[in-house]
Amino acid sequence: MQSRRGFSWVVLASVAVLVGTGVLVVAEDLGTIGENRSSADKSVGVCDRTLSGAEPSFPTFRSASRPAEASEFLGTSSLAGPTPTAEASSQQPPDRQPLAQEKELVSASAGEADTAADGKLRIICFGAHPDDAEIRCGGVAALWAAEGHHVKFVSVTNGDIGHWAMAGGPLAQRRTAEVHQAAKILGIRTEVLDIHDGELEPTLQNRKLITRLIRDWQADIVIGHRPYDYHPDHRYVGVLIQDSAFMVTVPFICPDSPPLKRNPVFLYSYDGFQRPVPFRADVVVAIDSVIDKKIDALAAIESQFIEGGALGSAETAPKTPEQREAKRQQVRESFRRRFTDLANRYRDKLIELYGEEVGKKVQYAEAFEICEYGRQPNREELRRLFPFLPK
Ligand SMILES: [Zn+2]
Repeated sequence: MQSRRGFSWVVLASVAVLVGTGVLVVAEDLGTIGENRSSADKSVGVCDRTLSGAEPSFPTFRSASRPAEASEFLGTSSLAGPTPTAEASSQQPPDRQPLAQEKELVSASAGEADTAADGKLRIICFGAHPDDAEIRCGGVAALWAAEGHHVKFVSVTNGDIGHWAMAGGPLAQRRTAEVHQAAKILGIRTEVLDIHDGELEPTLQNRKLITRLIRDWQADIVIGHRPYDYHPDHRYVGVLIQDSAFMVTVPFICPDSPPLKRNPVFLYSYDGFQRPVPFRADVVVAIDSVIDKKIDALAAIESQFIEGGALGSAETAPKTPEQREAKRQQVRESFRRRFTDLANRYRDKLIELYGEEVGKKVQYAEAFEICEYGRQPNREELRRLFPFLPK
């Protein structure tokens, strides 16, 4: 019995060891599985981190709780009319919007200058925000467009902080739609770049962006702000245009975009700032024949001029359709006075360019200064570039 009992203990002990080992094996498998699961989780985590690491370049991966970024909505290059959103989405899978850098390349290679050989002038006007080019160049743009010349406005930022009650992607979308409507009225093309309002910097990347835009439009004339202005975005548009004024002809910068054979004439649009040097009116254009068109275009930019833009308020914004219509009329009159003031301020130049009889009668004007960094036009060339000036 003793030995049988001893055998039994041995058997029991062996079974216990086997079972124990089995349990251990099972436990180890579970551990392995657990470890594998854990690895799998980690690898998902790595993917997550990879995605989140790329987050600044992939706006669509941003948390849904954040306000939508303008780059999620805006395309870059489009004809006046169709919304850029539709164009952008037609070229991209639905869950993958283009990177800002890619948009630059798309913008730079979109066949902008497909009408370059028709003998017409090509003009590109830069403003810092979706309204600046319209205010400063809307009249002359309509005059060029009426003669079949090709005009493009570019808002270098998307205007996404330019309202007292709304901001971000929805505002950028709205302002883009407004300038597309204005462009339709003026008969020109327009583009809003996907750069945040208030955040434009005179970087190398932006210098290349502006250089490509000027080249791809095959511009004869480039217009933009002077670098002396109250708003940093205005100033840096001026700097970027100056920085591009030579680079547009240099072949090995931005080699993906053919250099211009001839440096364009660069013009500054009007401003009233006096320091360090006041604006000089080299060209003053009578815009009487297109003043209604220009003011219609400006009145289409309701977020700014009807609702008051960044400095508006709930108190001053129109609340009823009647108030909105009254505000519209007020804005129209105020713009008329503004362009009349310019005609009066530069009356001597108008008389010099248009002759005494016509020059004295001009009611509305826009003014431009020739930048010394681009091509310097003589009198004949100036009249070729501004064909509505009398010969
Ligand atoms: Zn502005």
